[in-house]
Amino acid sequence: MILFKNNEEGAHVLDKEDPLSCFRRRFYLLAGKIYMDGNSLGLLSRDAEEVLLRSIDQWKSLGINGWLDAEPPWFDYAEELGRRQAPLVGAMPEEVVATSSTTVNLHTLVGTFYHPRGKKTKILADELNFPSDIYALESQIKLKGLNPRENLVLVKSRENRFLEEEDIVEAMNDEVALILLPSVLYRSGQLLDMEYLTRKAGERGILIGFDCSHSVGAVPHYFDRWGVDFSFWCNYKYMNSGPGGVASLYVNKRHFTESPSLAGWWGYRKDKQFDMSLEFEKAEGAGGWQIGTTHLLSLAPLEGSLKIFQEAGIDRVKEKSLKLTSYLVFLLNERGLTAPPYNFRIGSPLEEKRRGGHVAIEHEDAARINKALKDRNIIPDFRYPNIIRLAPVALYNTFYEVWKVVEALQEIIDRGEQERYGQVRDAVT
Ligand SMILES: *Cc1c(COP(=O)(O)O)cnc(C)c1O
Repeated sequence: MILFKNNEEGAHVLDKEDPLSCFRRRFYLLAGKIYMDGNSLGLLSRDAEEVLLRSIDQWKSLGINGWLDAEPPWFDYAEELGRRQAPLVGAMPEEVVATSSTTVNLHTLVGTFYHPRGKKTKILADELNFPSDIYALESQIKLKGLNPRENLVLVKSRENRFLEEEDIVEAMNDEVALILLPSVLYRSGQLLDMEYLTRKAGERGILIGFDCSHSVGAVPHYFDRWGVDFSFWCNYKYMNSGPGGVASLYVNKRHFTESPSLAGWWGYRKDKQFDMSLEFEKAEGAGGWQIGTTHLLSLAPLEGSLKIFQEAGIDRVKEKSLKLTSYLVFLLNERGLTAPPYNFRIGSPLEEKRRGGHVAIEHEDAARINKALKDRNIIPDFRYPNIIRLAPVALYNTFYEVWKVVEALQEIIDRGEQERYGQVRDAVT
């Protein structure tokens, strides 16, 4: 139990004691701004930039020869970065590959593991899921010739914020063929108990996969130990590897014999890929789920980013992340912001073991308060209808910034600053 202090000096003390404070200098911070949106788009690090520029130089000087002669070679760069990312998710090196986009990886993995048979035809997901995942699941069900209305089951939430693991387990009946859940809910930031859910699914003979877009790079994972069947995630949020950067996927090695639903030549055995045979021979590991040529320039930043994670250690990242979010919650409560006249409500789990990397703050005037924050050079994000998400990121945010954000929230309400704004939303919030 950490005892925080409700004063500015206390914030500076926390920063002085922070073992990860040295990493902030490796990132391009936005001049004059407090960035609290690393859960949507992580900031650029010098390390990531360096690798991106290196890959452009390689292209310049090597041309086509870069596939084999670049260092590391482009040809199996996706597998190489998968090997380097594997420790972040508790996987064997060959179980992870960096490829495609999040939603495409969802398609190929769900397509691979969803085999409706007899009365086992349903996919179990949840009503708080990221929309893209739901659209993709519906289309996967249609591709199997079935009706999504009957075969996509969405576990109900409690108060639109949280999912209870018990509710999910209760829905794991003998009609469910596959379960796909987020690790961390994108609005409330709730971290699901993946170990428990995986065990319960396994006991019922149901395959289970997780969309870890909101957890990789923020919390440790132990996929192998938990026995997760498959997973995928994006690398542009907490992994800081650039807008639309290449995503990753994980396949448990017990499934290496499965055939990918969306096969392509980049998933071919690497040693024979250029034999150009018309008969598909899948690569042994997770690399077999690649589809087309590696998006080299969108992948390169991940190498630099992984270097930072390797030095910082995901356990220390998680420890600081919890301390930052706990401090944020502490200040909101301690300064009276969760009571009238402020009336903010903490829409994230208070128990640390259920918390991901961000805190959702609810307010009936959230849209306009969010705009007022932006005009005060603070970058949060807004989720309709009433959520301001704040992600103090362990690698580049400070406790003092958290202090400043809470102070800003208080001043905005004190001065009625939100009254100046209209209710119209921007296209990207
Ligand atoms: C960010 C995010 C995505 C994004 O999908 P893309 O294919 O990268 O656009 C998907 N699912 C979840 C849960 C996310 O948080």
